[in-house]
Amino acid sequence: AKTRGKGQHVLFEQEMHDAALERLVVEADLRRAIEREEFFLEFQPIVELDTGNIIGAEALVRWLCRERGTVPPGVFIPIAEVTGLIVPIGKWVLRRACREAQRWTRERGIAARITVNLSGRQLQDAGIVDDVRQALEETGLDPTQLVLEITESMLMQNTDVSMARLTALKELGVSLAIDDFGTGYSSLSYLQRYPIDILKIDKAFVDVIDKGGEGPVLASAIVALGDTLRMNTVAEGIETEAQRGHLLTLGCELGQGFLFSPPLDEEEFWHLLLARGSR
Ligand code: C2E
Ligand code: CA
Ligand code: CA
Ligand code: CA
Repeated sequence: AKTRGKGQHVLFEQEMHDAALERLVVEADLRRAIEREEFFLEFQPIVELDTGNIIGAEALVRWLCRERGTVPPGVFIPIAEVTGLIVPIGKWVLRRACREAQRWTRERGIAARITVNLSGRQLQDAGIVDDVRQALEETGLDPTQLVLEITESMLMQNTDVSMARLTALKELGVSLAIDDFGTGYSSLSYLQRYPIDILKIDKAFVDVIDKGGEGPVLASAIVALGDTLRMNTVAEGIETEAQRGHLLTLGCELGQGFLFSPPLDEEEFWHLLLARGSR
């Protein structure tokens, strides 16, 4: 604003400079993190809302930095995206996630699904289809057990390339899910044109589902849309019994959230899967 003094302007530039510097430092550390293998995965159960039985898990990457401690994905993923480092990191995530899911099947015959987040930058990379194929081949995971999550904005950008890549991924036998559905701007015609299997209802809609008024209307519309387009719906960020009940009433059968379990490390998830996995 015009009322800002010169001093504040200087302060602003200083902050910009600090942010840029911080990014550079994190980028250097991120590069080293790949070599030092400082990443690990957590697994958040995806459950049947009526029984609570586990049908799969979403893999969520974690960075345990030697110098900074645990860095949340909300901080390092955006930096990994602009620097392109998300491509090698994402490749590591894919292989690790597939390997873990293959172990569930190999050791106990539990064919649970593993869901992996793909960033827009990864989908723009010509190597993505080979990376997924390689992860499946090297780990021996059945492709029907792998779900790839993309966002609505990825459908709307570079549409020809996206269509070709997503079609090629589908041909590998994996499933595709739209993450945070309802928060982006994808049009219905796009949604219908792409080979999408699952809509993940964003937490924002789940949060207001028992608040009365227009709260439940949008979640209801998304579930109905999913049914119409023959897609499954998975609700995200379920924290209360009331939310679970409302979602079941709407016909949403699958979900994840702190009500059932936070993201767990490999061993914790394995034990929960043995106790609550649906076979
Ligand atoms: P997301 O894909 O929407 O993942 C769901 C986030 O919500 C996770 O945060 C999860 O821990 C959190 N969450 C789950 N249930 C609840 C709940 O009941 N209440 C609340 N308040 N939160 C809940 P997280 O692990 O911090 O991940 C943040 C974001 O980072 C993810 O959002 C995703 O966009 C990105 N991300 C995580 N792992 C990866 C990855 O391997 N690759 C890529 N490209 N992005 C990733
Ligand atoms: Ca996700
Ligand atoms: Ca999400
Ligand atoms: Ca349904």
